[in-house]
Amino acid sequence: MSHASECLEKIAAQRAQWGDKLLILGHHYQDASVVACCDAVGDSLELSRIAAASNADRIIFCGVRFMAETAEILCYDGAEGRQRRRSVWQPAPNAGCPMADMATGEGLEAAWQTLQKALPEDVLTPVVYVNSNAEVKAVCGKHGGAACTSGNGHHVVKHFLALGHRILFAPDQHLCTNIMRELGYPPEAVALWHRDIPGGGLSEEQIRSARLIAWDGCCPIHASYTTSDVTIARKAHPGAELLIHPEAPSAVASLADKTGSTKGIIEAIHRAEPGSSFIVGTEDHLVERLKQLPGKEIHALRPILCEDMGLTTPEQILHVLETWDEACRVRVPEELIPDARACVERMLAL
Ligand code: SF4
Repeated sequence: MSHASECLEKIAAQRAQWGDKLLILGHHYQDASVVACCDAVGDSLELSRIAAASNADRIIFCGVRFMAETAEILCYDGAEGRQRRRSVWQPAPNAGCPMADMATGEGLEAAWQTLQKALPEDVLTPVVYVNSNAEVKAVCGKHGGAACTSGNGHHVVKHFLALGHRILFAPDQHLCTNIMRELGYPPEAVALWHRDIPGGGLSEEQIRSARLIAWDGCCPIHASYTTSDVTIARKAHPGAELLIHPEAPSAVASLADKTGSTKGIIEAIHRAEPGSSFIVGTEDHLVERLKQLPGKEIHALRPILCEDMGLTTPEQILHVLETWDEACRVRVPEELIPDARACVERMLAL
């Protein structure tokens, strides 16, 4: 028996012993060998919801740190959400998200204070992409803001703008720029906050004329797409529908037939007529899995891989199952939980 199948067999044996007291979750960007070990596969928010609704005592989250943290935040309950109900484990504890790490709680707090002072007549509401660390979600929650996903971002941004609020959006500049463009706002409605420049590098006039101030973070993987990638792919696959994840730069995303979250892209392809053809601009583990769908022709816009998502292996899952190594345990500091949870729950309630 090969090492890989021996490992899968040991995981299955451990899995069977735990029954419904254990849940193994995997993000769509995980390798097929990891997906084969999971009870459910989905996007980060979908998986956190499954975690929160389950009866499992232990949850193994195959993905990057902010995802496991969001599951941990939603797994609290009791008075004011302060009681830890179950434990969350990350087989690759070094798997982070470079975009999430581009914003800190301290940095977001300082930016919010500076901007709110410059806009004394306005309500400045933070909105944070769910792809952010727990301390950033906690600052957002403390100032009355909400999280959003790439799927519901339009709805959340529209909600606060309709209330007359201005928005400080972190950490992905491209997601919010794409949302504002698709909502019909002109480019000058978005001002870019440069996190390494005092005052964000913005003049008073730029701050006052912006409806949304965008943190200057990005997903280095999706942001690497260029307009030439689109030209080359369209030429190679004429007639194929182009679906691009909204973490791509606006110049690229605006060339797509549709921008869509991970879930949105999967659903659009599933719904399409047999024989439909697509060019897909997102992480390659998912694109490769979509290529297995019968009756659909799928091409990568250009193969892009998230190294952090690729860090989890079946061997690491087995290591957690056999040792429950504390180094793999996810522990969001308790003092962050109430505000971080308020940030996520406000999104769920909108
Ligand atoms: S694909 Fe981008 S946003 Fe997702 S985990 Fe990797 S770096 Fe972060």
